[in-house]
Amino acid sequence: MCYAIPGKVTSISDKTVFVDYFGEEKKAYNDFYDLSPGDYVYAQGGYVVQKILPVDAEEILSVWKESFFSLQETDLAISRLALSGSKADAGCLRILDKVTESLRYTNEDLLYLLGLENEECLGLLRKSGNFLRQKYMKNSCCVHGIIEISNYCSRGCFYCGISSYNGAVPRYSMSNDEIFAAASEAVLKYGFRSLVLQSGEDAGLDFDGMAEVVRKIREELGALIFVSFGEIGVDGLKKLYDAGSRGLLMRFESSNPMLYRRVCPGHTLEGRLEHIKQAYSMGYLIITGALIGIPGQSPQDILNDIYLAKDLNAEMFSFGPFIPHSSTPLASYPPPKEEDILKVIALLRIVNPRDARILVTTAFETLSSEARRNGLLSGANSVMLNVTPLQYRKLYSIYPGRAHEDEPIEFQVGEVVALLKSLGRAPSDLGAGH
Ligand code: SAH
Repeated sequence: MCYAIPGKVTSISDKTVFVDYFGEEKKAYNDFYDLSPGDYVYAQGGYVVQKILPVDAEEILSVWKESFFSLQETDLAISRLALSGSKADAGCLRILDKVTESLRYTNEDLLYLLGLENEECLGLLRKSGNFLRQKYMKNSCCVHGIIEISNYCSRGCFYCGISSYNGAVPRYSMSNDEIFAAASEAVLKYGFRSLVLQSGEDAGLDFDGMAEVVRKIREELGALIFVSFGEIGVDGLKKLYDAGSRGLLMRFESSNPMLYRRVCPGHTLEGRLEHIKQAYSMGYLIITGALIGIPGQSPQDILNDIYLAKDLNAEMFSFGPFIPHSSTPLASYPPPKEEDILKVIALLRIVNPRDARILVTTAFETLSSEARRNGLLSGANSVMLNVTPLQYRKLYSIYPGRAHEDEPIEFQVGEVVALLKSLGRAPSDLGAGH
């Protein structure tokens, strides 16, 4: 969203503006607005996404001021970590000591953590992830909205329910007017400031039409727009960037090329990575990650997934469980356990302590009703709410029984705001800037 806190521009150096939030200064990149010191802006992901009137900003800030510092105190109290005096085994304590003190650790150390089974150790691993999140990133929590604009897809991925081979799912494609209306509702009615537009791949997308929608959202609503339409090629990426989108959401699914080929027949990991790298070099912010629990995946594969996402300069990490879908070739394989995903979240934070936005994915929320809370207490600091119109949401059935698929936006917002408040998190994105 997300109730983004307005910030006051203090100084400007070319396209970089310095923005004050209650005494804390952050950098943001401005390539849309004519700004001067003293102006108020919303920034997301390190980008200025809107300039706002001082009267409006001051009114919003006066409401925020009351809770801003008390939320930080609540978060700090919840995030304390005491490793000494714990009954956890010495090997685990030694490694957690290293990672929380920013000392060098090895791949073997992380494999050890990934293999933990003892409850006491697991609890400390999760707390270490949360401790690092608080230490470096404080209490801000990104709340993005996602609009699933079409479920047409030309790929035949073995895990995915909207794959082309699944004739049982009715297909839909939102019109450009419907997309803009959904974005307007998300931004104007609910205060979202970051939106992901997603579809299956090669969904018959008309890039010129889509570029127009992106431009209209960017200009008329003021939001950071991520696109997630699969491998659309350099021309598609460029068109959408020029229209104003600034983020790409594209998982590489698995860092193991053999595994990738096995579950995404006809496609290569190399091609997908090339796409992500091209987008990054164009200036896109990258949200990427992998599926956890794909049959045949090893613990080292999972660590390699974590390293690869970092190497791809992910600004946000999206790692979620594989959930079997009955109409796919992987229907009979079990999903991973909740604990496995919490370990991955904590390890993501350990490997990227200072600036990572780590998402609690909808797939994880589908696996466990406590996922959001537990994920946020293990190192995560982002959530994504589904703002796709209800008549389409169920049809984007990448896996069955998706969390929140029947919930109106208002309900989801109320629920997430209450949870964040109880954990002392601010539903805002005070991006560190680029
Ligand atoms: N066409 C876009 C969006 C794909 S759907 C793209 O290629 O990026 C978004 C994500 O859903 C996929 O990247 C995949 O990781 C996830 N997904 C698909 N099927 C899933 C399943 N059965 N369980 C969990 N996640 C799944």
